[in-house]
Amino acid sequence: MNRGFFIDRDGVLNVEVNYLGDPADAVLLPGVAAAIGRLNRAGVPVLVISNQAGVAKGYFTEADVKRVNDRLAELLAAEGARIDGWYYCPHHPDFTGACGCRKPAPGMLLRAAGEHGVDPAVSAMTGDRPSDLEAGANAGVTELYLVRTGYGRRTEAAGDGLPPGCRIVDDLAEAVTKFLENGM
Ligand SMILES: [Mg+2]
Ligand SMILES: [Zn+2]
Repeated sequence: MNRGFFIDRDGVLNVEVNYLGDPADAVLLPGVAAAIGRLNRAGVPVLVISNQAGVAKGYFTEADVKRVNDRLAELLAAEGARIDGWYYCPHHPDFTGACGCRKPAPGMLLRAAGEHGVDPAVSAMTGDRPSDLEAGANAGVTELYLVRTGYGRRTEAAGDGLPPGCRIVDDLAEAVTKFLENGM
């Protein structure tokens, strides 16, 4: 029954810039590296779950997504933090048809859980849009955090589309604090 910590990427880990395809624009949000470092030291796999429809739309390539992820990993490493798995969906229904990985579908979370020996039922999902939290709920995650970074304030103001029990926190650091307080 290993716990894992699933997180959305854009607007949660890094500054939301609307279709991030250039590693030069990859900037960590404040406090993120320290928060992920706490999860690392607690032995909790940190798994990034990201919709990257910019690939389907032709704004950037999968290689660009990987370059951005590599840059974020480098920025985290400089502060002693590590992501254990990077997952992304390159699809969009209007361009590439339906898929099982684009959030709110649970495909990426379930795959990540399987590959890292994590049980979604005792894990957390943190995101800034309803589809992040819905994907968590669809994967059986019950500990759901909406952050106020990225599109989070807009999501909070809209006030709908959030699964029952979803908690609202200021940022990733607060979500991590609450998750670790919940214990095993
Ligand atoms: Mg996001
Ligand atoms: Zn997909």
